[in-house]
Amino acid sequence: MGTVVPQVAQSQEVTDGFHLVIDALKLNGIDTIFGLPGIPITDLARKAQAAGMRVISFRHEQNAGNAAAIAGFMTQKPGICLTVSAPGFLNGLTALANATTNCFPMILVSGSSEREIVDLQQGDYEEMDQLAIARPFAKAAFRVLHAEDIGVGVARAIRAAVSGRPGGVYLDLPGRLFPQTIDAAAAAKSLIKVVDPAPRQIPAQDAVQRALGLLRTARRPLIVLGKGAAYAQADAEIRALVERTGIPYLPMSMAKGLLPDTHPQCASAARSFVLPEADVVMLVGARLNWLLSHGKGKTWGGKDPKDWGGQRFVQVDISPQEADSNVRIDAPVVGDIGSCVSALLAGIGSDWAGPPAEWLAAVAERKAKNVAKMAETLAKNPAPMNFHSALNVVRDIVKANPDAYLVNEGANALDFTRSIVDMYQPRKRLDVGTWGVMGVGMGFSVAAAVVSGQPVIAVEGDSAFGFSGMEVETICRYNLPVCVVILNNNGVYRGDERNPTGGRDPAPLVFVKDARYEKVMEAFGGVGAYATTPEELRAAMEEAIRSRRPTLINAVIDEGAGTESGRITSLNPAAKRK
Ligand code: ADP
Repeated sequence: MGTVVPQVAQSQEVTDGFHLVIDALKLNGIDTIFGLPGIPITDLARKAQAAGMRVISFRHEQNAGNAAAIAGFMTQKPGICLTVSAPGFLNGLTALANATTNCFPMILVSGSSEREIVDLQQGDYEEMDQLAIARPFAKAAFRVLHAEDIGVGVARAIRAAVSGRPGGVYLDLPGRLFPQTIDAAAAAKSLIKVVDPAPRQIPAQDAVQRALGLLRTARRPLIVLGKGAAYAQADAEIRALVERTGIPYLPMSMAKGLLPDTHPQCASAARSFVLPEADVVMLVGARLNWLLSHGKGKTWGGKDPKDWGGQRFVQVDISPQEADSNVRIDAPVVGDIGSCVSALLAGIGSDWAGPPAEWLAAVAERKAKNVAKMAETLAKNPAPMNFHSALNVVRDIVKANPDAYLVNEGANALDFTRSIVDMYQPRKRLDVGTWGVMGVGMGFSVAAAVVSGQPVIAVEGDSAFGFSGMEVETICRYNLPVCVVILNNNGVYRGDERNPTGGRDPAPLVFVKDARYEKVMEAFGGVGAYATTPEELRAAMEEAIRSRRPTLINAVIDEGAGTESGRITSLNPAAKRK
């Protein structure tokens, strides 16, 4: 008779790195992964879906990364982008850098090769020191080597992405981590549910008083709302502050709709008047970068590009380092926008007189003049269509469907859409952001539809669409209510350039003439439409919104419409010389 051998080791429950990553994300309320599977993260994607997460697979990692970044902007939770090693990681890196630049919270999670082989440069499959490469492009970068550290790694990544000024975070997960097994009870204990991931930051009272004091002295005050204000989701407080002060405001591109663009205090239509004329400007979640001409030069009433216009600035921002980045900030208010705006409101007092009537009248007069001029242009119906007549339709459709998201990229297609199409709700306009980058279109569209379930209208230049166009397959695969409108003028900026030598190659900025982009959507089972008149465009857009079917409308416009570099001609040395 033999003795009974206890089987403790076999009966002990274990888990592995795959499951721990998924559990750590789910524990922190992250329910969606955008990515592109392959070695070594294929099984992670499969198991995440099996565990009930939404896994949205793209055709190129940059688009998955852009989707993750904008999901972060929309939700204040870090968007997750999952990629393979080396090339897939590098494809995702552009989106990570863009997220960091735009203050969008996202986490790029990339599988990586064997550490020992990479570090000795012995030529592993897709060998690359990804952590070192990611660092300069990210707000923070971490690597997890042991399964028991996954909980800490994910928690640190989440905190880094959303606390303070949000940004992109890189999380490096070597292939060998995933199959590591660990006792299930110990694993459960190692996970961290992050408490208060983006702590409020209350501004100092003296800073608030200093800001209010400066605003009180203003004769021609102005508020500039940036995408930081949109991100903060302090919509009611911001509206209350704007309305309580009575100060005209200017929304930056992605802050459009924070208050409806039709709000009487909105000064968008008088932008070139209010910037140089204002004496005190309060920036709320907006940086004085190139998009605001660095606070200097002719835009601000200065004599030359380096000349300061004499404005005094209040800057409300979560980053204490932002103040004085371009010109002197007289009253920095550092804290989260919700807390800062509430403190400013509380401090205003019943004696607040509001801006002088002459200033408000001057702004209103300029606004009325420009609105009338624009209405005249929009009423024209030239053949072929131009940007204005096509965007007049988009403007009506967005007005009738204020819940819809508007994704927008291009050069002229961007500039005209921004100024013509009014927004009515916060965080509905998603565009090229701080870099003015191309290629965000389809990634943003997929994320907006997946995260919100609302219809998405993507107004794309034909050039811009090319950067992410293959994702129409993704849009069809997930059957998303995305309506892509390509303003097609046959080229970059415009389509009428010729090769000056008369040689066989086309000019570098033109595309195939009369391209049928709508057929790309049809190829994957979506709806394609071809529109050469505003009536055709309107009918196709209305049907797309009604049916919620993936739709691509090829809106053919005059190939001579459009200017080089759109509204940023001043940044293009070639155009400057002309
Ligand atoms: P825009 O391009 O619309 O002008 P920017 O991206 O230049 O906007 O500026 C956004 C600013 O908002 C950044 O300086 C960032 O630090 C700040 N910010 C982001 N989120 C918050 C927040 N929750 N509270 C306060 N400031 C924020």
